[in-house]
Amino acid sequence: MIWNEVKECMSRDEMRELQGRRLHKVVDYVYHHTPFYRRKLQEMDITPDDIRTVEDIVKLPFTTKQDLRDNYPFGLQAAPQSEIIRIHASSGTTGNPTIVGYTRKDIGVWSECMARCLTSYGVGRGDIFSVAYGYGLFTGGLGVHYGVETLGAAVVPASTGNTEKHVRLLKDLGVTGIACTPSYALHLAETMEKMGVSRDETKLRVGAFGAEPWTENMRKEIEERLGIKAFNLYGLSEIMGPCVSYECSAQHNSHINEDHYLPEIVDPVTLEPLPYGQQGELVFTTLTKEGMPLLRYRTRDLTSLEDTPCSCGRTSVKMTKIVGRSDDMLIIRGINVFPSQVESVLLSMPECAPRYLLVVDRQDNLDTLTVQVEVRQEYFDQGFDTLTPITELEKKISARLKSVLSISAKVQVKAPNSLERSEGKSKFVIDNRNIR
Ligand code: ADP
Ligand code: ZN
Repeated sequence: MIWNEVKECMSRDEMRELQGRRLHKVVDYVYHHTPFYRRKLQEMDITPDDIRTVEDIVKLPFTTKQDLRDNYPFGLQAAPQSEIIRIHASSGTTGNPTIVGYTRKDIGVWSECMARCLTSYGVGRGDIFSVAYGYGLFTGGLGVHYGVETLGAAVVPASTGNTEKHVRLLKDLGVTGIACTPSYALHLAETMEKMGVSRDETKLRVGAFGAEPWTENMRKEIEERLGIKAFNLYGLSEIMGPCVSYECSAQHNSHINEDHYLPEIVDPVTLEPLPYGQQGELVFTTLTKEGMPLLRYRTRDLTSLEDTPCSCGRTSVKMTKIVGRSDDMLIIRGINVFPSQVESVLLSMPECAPRYLLVVDRQDNLDTLTVQVEVRQEYFDQGFDTLTPITELEKKISARLKSVLSISAKVQVKAPNSLERSEGKSKFVIDNRNIR
């Protein structure tokens, strides 16, 4: 089944023509509604009339997360506040979060794109679909929720947390589909096993997983333990939220809703556009968004694009699995964490030396973060080698990290010069999750 055959199956030429028209329109719109873009375009001596086809996109400026932070909270919003009906924020938590405002039309487009994803997974009317992404500022919960309603299936807004209750609901209500992070899916499987609920006691048959990278091995494990087909769902709040791309029955790479989100791959260093098939940084231009349209937004996600015909009949470009990021951002329990955020917390404390190591692990399918930090010599000399004050310092650092990052980290305070020194570039992060 295909939700919108016209848009998902149009010829490549028709798509490029549509994208060209929409690109001109969005550039014209931001030129007249977003002072930030008007200034940038004027500096580059570009007017909306210079942008007529998709090929013209290379003339446009890039947008970064830093631009959004610098213009916090509403600086890149194009629609007047009276037209905004929803506000989300990205989970990155230091400094200024990224705020995204949506108009009624934006919510409609988002819901339609999400309905396309769900249809592609084989979800339809009659299904009972549980959304176990967090509801709230995070786009995962409400984004998928509206898609399920648009599709006409019954949505169970389970959200995250209280996994045992969720397992009972899955069983009692005969839930057939679920959306959550892949690591939460495995946690759910584990909880079911602990509760003695076998996969055959549920009617689960399909799952939509994303918001963090996952491997083919994780897919196999989820499919096996929950007895379902597991599909990829990709998105980011700056562009819309979950729905930007989705897997189909081929379960190989993800179709992009490219009539709304125009993808490009660029070299992350030179920013030169790269052809299909080559790996680089994924960049999106929103073609229809009203609330906060973005030109050439750098996702920092590394992937490649392919436009070979797909067995499902869709003609849209596909993106391959995300293989990494062009910045050092970590996604821990679905929350964006930059090592520099941890560093700034540590350096704000006089006891800490600027020597630290972040160790990310996955235990019982949930991510854990351990922060090891060396104490400064002068504090150490004052008796910090006795146990009690160290525990207190660890607690203090942990509390401060929690308030800045919104996630709990285990803190281990170390003696001066005890963390391994490496030749050349220091290693600040060890990620043991093995998710690439
Ligand atoms: P949040 O929604 O957590 O506030 P973002 O919207 O910024 O934060 O998160 C989007 C990022 O999450 C993407 O840029 C990508 O790195 C990652 N992501 C989302 N979905 C997937 C997926 N299916 N596979 C791999 N990474 C994903
Ligand atoms: Zn397909």
